[in-house]
Parts: sequence; C-alpha cells; structure tokens
Amino acid sequence: MQFRDLKTQYGVLKEKMDAAILEVLENTNFISGTQVSTLEKRLAEYVGVKHCITCANGTDALTLALMAWKVGVGDAVFVPDFTFFASGEVVSFEGATPVFVDVEKDTFNISPEKLEEAIQKVLKEGKQTPKVIVAVDLFGQPADYIELRKIADKYDLLILEDGAQGFGGRIADQKVCSFGDISTTSFFPAKPLGCYGDGGAVFTDSDEMAEKIRSLAVHGKGSFKYDNVRIGMNSRLDTIQAAVLLTKLPVFIEQELDRVNEVAERYTELLKGTVVTPVVKNGFYSSWAQYSILLENKETRDGLQAYLKEKGIPSMVYYPKPMHQQAAFADICSDDDFENTMELCERVLALPMHPYMKDEDIKIVIEHIKSYIQKNE
Ligand SMILES: *Cc1c(COP(=O)(O)O)cnc(C)c1O
Repeated sequence: MQFRDLKTQYGVLKEKMDAAILEVLENTNFISGTQVSTLEKRLAEYVGVKHCITCANGTDALTLALMAWKVGVGDAVFVPDFTFFASGEVVSFEGATPVFVDVEKDTFNISPEKLEEAIQKVLKEGKQTPKVIVAVDLFGQPADYIELRKIADKYDLLILEDGAQGFGGRIADQKVCSFGDISTTSFFPAKPLGCYGDGGAVFTDSDEMAEKIRSLAVHGKGSFKYDNVRIGMNSRLDTIQAAVLLTKLPVFIEQELDRVNEVAERYTELLKGTVVTPVVKNGFYSSWAQYSILLENKETRDGLQAYLKEKGIPSMVYYPKPMHQQAAFADICSDDDFENTMELCERVLALPMHPYMKDEDIKIVIEHIKSYIQKNE
C-alpha cells in the first residue's frame, strides 16, 4: 500500500502527461515558456484572486511575500507552533523574529485566542513590532480566517496564508490561497496539487505586490531582464513543471478533491469510537493533504505505527516536534505554553490518503487499527 500513490495517478494521466512534457522538450522553452503564464492565469482564476506568480518552491513563495512587505529585523511574525519547519524558517531568514503560537486541538490550526495573547505580549514587551500573521492551512483545512481577519484588523497586521497543504480547500465558496493579503502554495509532489519536482506559487489581489514579487523572483528585474532595480532571487517555475500542473489541474478540480473527501468520510465513519478522527469546521472544506488521527498517548501511537508497518501499511508522524523546540530556534527564548501542540506531537498519526485509494485498502487500514486498539485496551 502507498501512503500517497503518485504512480497510479501518473498511470491515469500518462498519455496526456507524456505529450505535455514532450512538447516542452521539443520546443526547448525550458524557462518561462507559455505554459507558465497559462498556468498562472488558470490558477488565479480557480482561486479567485487577481494575480498568481509561480516560483521555484513553497518556501521561496513565503520568502517572496515577506521580502515584498520588507519584513526584517525588529519585526515579529506570528507562526503556529505545529507546522512544517519552513513556515517559521522563512521569518528568521529575513531577520525577523518568529513568535510561535499554540494551535487548536481539534483542527490543528493556529488558535485565534492564543494568537491575540501572543500579540499583546509582544506589544507589552515593546522589543519588536508585530507585523504579520502566518496562517497555515494544516493538513488541508483552511485556518479560521473569519477570526484571524478580525485580529489582523484590530492590530493592523498582515496575513500571509501558507496554503502549501491547503490548495483546493475552501471556506463556504471562498478558496484557499485567497485569504491572505498574500497567499502561497507549494507544488512539492506529495502536496494536494503536486508537480514532478519542486514548485510553488504566490497569490495576491494587490497589483503593487504582484509587480514587486514578479521582480523579486527574477533578480529584482526592472523594465527588462538586464535592468535590476532591487536585490531579489532566482526563483522560477520550470516550463516542464508548469506543463505537468496544467495536465493535473482539471483532474484535481473535477475528480481528485471529491475523492479525497470521500476517503476521509469513510475513514471517519468507520473509525468512530476507535480513535479521535480529524474535525473539519462547519462550512470548511479540506483538501486532505493528510488524514491525521489521534491516539491516546505516545506509546499507543508509536505502537500502532509499528504494528501497521508490520502489516505493510505506511503511516507518518506529522509533526513529531513543535517549532519552539527545534534547535534552529533555540535562541528565541519563550516561556509560553504550547499545551496543545505538545500533546499533538505525541498523539498524532497520518494514515494513507490520496485520490486513488481503493475502498478495499481503506477497509484494510481500518481493520488493522481496530485490531491493534482492541488488543491493547
Ligand atoms: C511543504 C510546505 C512548505 C514548503 O514547501 P516547499 O515547496 O517544500 O518549499 C511550507 N509550508 C508548509 C506548511 C508546507 O507543508
């Protein structure tokens, strides 16, 4: 069994995919081919924002946003304690200070309540200026942008939506990557919409920011390629990756999102009463980058993972370590409590989840989880 079955997906798309990649090879337009601008148009349309700027990966996408806002030394950027390292790494990389915030225990996303406490604490200490909230759509579910926007407005902060795991999700009819003042995503192969290597994108409604980000992504270019008006980076999406994404996008929108939601529903229905299943807020729609259950404690979690492995079922621990405990952030002292994150790191386990998962495989996973839990009760 595969944790995320990219091979089956390729098999389904093979004919169109091979043709799309071959076209790039034949045209040799490896950088900035027309596929890149076509993809940007389609992605912006799908998400419902004015501008999409593709780039080399999801980490660069976050960096480009922070650079465009000139976030740097002396600025505080609020980041969930329970997320992939890059969400906080980019903040330190720009010289700003990440301030970690505990998450909600049921949705795994940044807690608006804890966020406001963290902002007030930074204001009271007076050492840094609160600037940005990095909101992560963890495991595919949008963060609570209704509450986050109220807080951002109250304290005059910008929202950077890290939609690396959330692409395809929505709140009511509003799609992920449209909630931030700037939003980003990643096309890393295992993300909800993945390419065949690294890739990323930035989304915004602001003409000014879009122009800046386009420039920053190509050596701070000005009116033409050899006119450089600012210090930037080299972060472009390859034409081959754009061709891959153009081939995947319609299938992602029309079939894959529905199927991962079916798989999630089935898991939740059949696991009820056995383990804690993930909660999706009312009116929220997840793109199910991960389907993560909670076990009673670390011992049971680790035991179940080993047991599943024996039975040929892959599972993953996202994430075993809170951000505030990463050695890389050791110099950012914090005496805050991160009760929920600490608990989640010990109890969480992600199960196989992808759009090509067969009903029989869902049943097998569930049977083994049930038999392990029953044996260990
Ligand atoms: C994957 C991921 C990123 C980084 O994306 P890359 O394309 O791997 O650079 C950033 N944030 C989150 C939450 C992610 O899951």
